[in-house]
Amino acid sequence: MKSESISILIIYTGGTIGMKQNPETGALMPFNFEQIEQEVPELKKFGYRLQTYSFDPPIDSSDITPEFWANLAQLIYENYHKFDGFVILHGTDTMSFTASALSFMLEGLAKPVVLTGSQLPIGMLRTDGKENLISAIEIAAAQHNGQAMVSEVSIFFENRLYRGNRTTKHNSEHFNAFRSNNYPFLAEAGIFIKYNFPFIHYPTEPQPLVIHTKMDTSLAVLKLFPGITPNVVSSILKAPNVKAVILETYGSGNALTQRWFLDLIQEAVNKNLVIFNVTQCKAGRVDMDKYENGLVLKRLGVVSGSDITFEAAVAKLMFLMGKGYYGKQLAEELTKSIAGEITVK
Ligand code: ASP
Repeated sequence: MKSESISILIIYTGGTIGMKQNPETGALMPFNFEQIEQEVPELKKFGYRLQTYSFDPPIDSSDITPEFWANLAQLIYENYHKFDGFVILHGTDTMSFTASALSFMLEGLAKPVVLTGSQLPIGMLRTDGKENLISAIEIAAAQHNGQAMVSEVSIFFENRLYRGNRTTKHNSEHFNAFRSNNYPFLAEAGIFIKYNFPFIHYPTEPQPLVIHTKMDTSLAVLKLFPGITPNVVSSILKAPNVKAVILETYGSGNALTQRWFLDLIQEAVNKNLVIFNVTQCKAGRVDMDKYENGLVLKRLGVVSGSDITFEAAVAKLMFLMGKGYYGKQLAEELTKSIAGEITVK
């Protein structure tokens, strides 16, 4: 395909990439998207048809909500046949949550949806934003025999492309802000952009894009630490209207085995609460068969999160509950890979 016939929609949601300093406070605040085009005149040099869409007002991604994700999914759906690829400019703070949510919401996706952002505003001399934006567009436009090179929701940052639902923001200062600890990167940008084909998902047969925009947020998070009290555990497990709890455990999915703790877990499971075991470790997987302290959770009916990230766990639970899965059915669905977010052995 000739480059001028390739079209990319650049969606600006906010984040540092499009921020400027508030002259009064010195703090960073979002600015109008038109200024991004002024700041990156290189965009005009692309042979592609680039169109932009800006959310109004642009937000700091700490303000992201499931409703915002639904609007993003809807926007992609409405423009799906008009563009070959999508680039979403997004704050880094919650980019991994958004990428995870979109990977579930966009069923049958066969075009690139590349999220990127920056650590330094695009107007600053040493910004990482220009390079991130330009490479993200390049990747969103990349095709081979009419087939997109990366037909999934991904994050491009510094010089790597990752499967979005495998990422986590790991550094708040380095340009290399993201990690995908449990899944190889999808591409690396050096002099050439090298694609890691065996790890990229390609649709086996053409499917229409179907979007799922209902997310049920009735979940809570219980992060374990030595010395956690019955009072805290109980207040989370018994919080009103909570239907699922992410239990952030130690190592390969281990927890304390004190009687009071196990009794509270048992009581919660008996009441149909789904307890999803996600490790506090940055890499590796939950294996509740490995230690007695994990096995005891498994026997109580706690569900293994395998090698899922915390971000993908949040989005997956909201997505599945939004589809109407609760209790045992939810527990069952959680063990399946929906968009390559876990390694199923
Ligand atoms: N607070 C900003 C945001 O996530 C940080 C960033 O863009 O990197 O929107």
